[in-house]
Amino acid sequence: MHMEYIRDIHSHKARSKKPAISFEFFPPKTQKGEAVLFEKTLPALLTMRPDYCSVTYGAGGSTKGKTLEMVSRIQDEFDLTCMSHLTCVNATREDINSVLCEAHERGIKNILALRGDPPGGGADFEPTAGGFTYSMDLVRFIRANHAFSIGVAGFPEGHIACDEGQEVDWERLKAKIDAGADFVITQLFFDNEDYLRFRDHMSKKLGMEKPIIPGILPVISTGQIKRFTSLCGASIPEKMMQRLQSLAEDDAAAAAFGIEYAIEQCEQLLQEGVQGLHFYCLNKAHSTVQVVKALERFR
Ligand SMILES: Cc1cc2nc3c(=O)[nH]c(=O)nc-3n(C[C@H](O)[C@H](O)[C@H](O)COP(=O)(O)OP(=O)(O)OC[C@H]3O[C@@H](n4cnc5c(N)ncnc54)[C@H](O)[C@@H]3O)c2cc1C
Repeated sequence: MHMEYIRDIHSHKARSKKPAISFEFFPPKTQKGEAVLFEKTLPALLTMRPDYCSVTYGAGGSTKGKTLEMVSRIQDEFDLTCMSHLTCVNATREDINSVLCEAHERGIKNILALRGDPPGGGADFEPTAGGFTYSMDLVRFIRANHAFSIGVAGFPEGHIACDEGQEVDWERLKAKIDAGADFVITQLFFDNEDYLRFRDHMSKKLGMEKPIIPGILPVISTGQIKRFTSLCGASIPEKMMQRLQSLAEDDAAAAAFGIEYAIEQCEQLLQEGVQGLHFYCLNKAHSTVQVVKALERFR
């Protein structure tokens, strides 16, 4: 079994001018949820030949053990490179180092290095004594002490808590890359212009050459997307919002619209030469499968 560094996956794909397709999951809360994920959802998504996948790290660091366990299970059972997300929440450097050592022992080669959100939904992030304040510190620590390929989060509309404006947030992203990150995965967004402006700024103004992989969420219900965007600060374009409002009582129709919207969004992004697409699958297969199937001619 040969797991790859994601930086190498992106380099191979860039050389062949094909996009890397990746899927994101979260650790299910119940055994039943885990059984559905491993027996139905993952096998269905794997028919789409993803290049890698990733597993989130629960709010407050709550799923630590579970995340690593899921990542190794995916790698072992499906022979697919999988990345573990890791946050600085409620953790000292020693705690983080022990997670990284365990990840290495489990054959995990890739870490998405994040700060995490303030536990309990507060506005300000309070670093743990003896821990890290920003994801950049985590990136630097991983690069100095371990051999993982490192991804970081990027925000096409600027991070929700960055009061100084988008461009300051983007300079901080450049600092994460300079600290040793290999690639960026973005927050979900629905207006490709936001992504393209961000990408241009990163490459032309800040000289950042690493891949910036768009994070794509096929909408599955009006209520859900309103909730997500209010939490992460992403905006919903006016026309899309009107359509979603009209489908607020009909989740099946909202999901069908979500698929149609995501296909068009991804086609435009691929025509703009993005190096990959990262799908927020929310542990469901249907929408992502439909979207990726429709993109076959680009692969
Ligand atoms: C692809 C993706 C995956 C994610 N996965 C998870 C997950 O698995 N688990 C989870 O809990 N959360 C996850 N998140 C959410 C993420 O943890 C939050 O968005 C969090 O609020 C910010 O994380 P970050 O790594 O971008 O933080 P940072 O890069 O540390 O930035 C956080 C804030 O601090 C500011 N900042 C950075 N450096 C400095 C500095 N030197 N001085 C002053 N201000 C600074 C930034 O502008 C920003 O406003 C994910 C987000 C994305 C986009």
